Amino acid sequence: MDERRIAARFAGFDQDGNGYIDREDFYVAAKALLAEFGVTARCDRGQSLFAGAEAFWQGMAGIADVDGDQRVTREEFVTGAVKRLRDNPDRFAEIARPFLRGALAVAGAEGDGIAADTALRVLGAFGVEADVARAAVEALEAGGSGRVSEDVVVRAFARYFTVPE
Ligand code: CA
Ligand code: CA
Repeated sequence: MDERRIAARFAGFDQDGNGYIDREDFYVAAKALLAEFGVTARCDRGQSLFAGAEAFWQGMAGIADVDGDQRVTREEFVTGAVKRLRDNPDRFAEIARPFLRGALAVAGAEGDGIAADTALRVLGAFGVEADVARAAVEALEAGGSGRVSEDVVVRAFARYFTVPE
C-alpha cells in the first residue's frame, strides 16, 4: 500500500487530527454520529455504540499499539495494523463489527440495513468527504436496491483497510 493511501486511512481513524489514534478518536466518532441522528448517549443505542467504540479501540490497540502507551502512531499503524490486518481481514471485520452494528442501529437500521442516503449521513458524521462517501455507498448498495446491509458494510470496511488498492 502506498504512503498516500496509508495516510488517508490513518487520518480516517485519527478523528481529532492530533497525529495519533487513541480511545478518544473512537469516542469522537461515536459522539458525532449520535449528534447527527439526535440520539442520546444514555439510551440503549447510544450505550451499544460506545461499547462498540471501546471494543474497536481495544482491538486496534491489541493489534497495533506495539509499545503499549495507549496511542497508535502512524508508524505503529503501518507496521502493525495494515500489515497484520492484510494477512487476516476477517480479524479486522470482527473487531469493527460491534461498532458498525451500533452505528447502523443509531442510524435507524431495520432488518435489511439502512437506506443509501442514511449511509451517506453516517459517513459524513465520520468526516468522510462527500464525493468519497457517495462512491462508497453506490458500490455498497446491493444491486441498486438503495439499501446498505450490515454484512456489506463490515466487509467493505475490512477491505478498505486491508486491500492494497
Ligand atoms: Ca487522534
Ligand atoms: Ca503506541
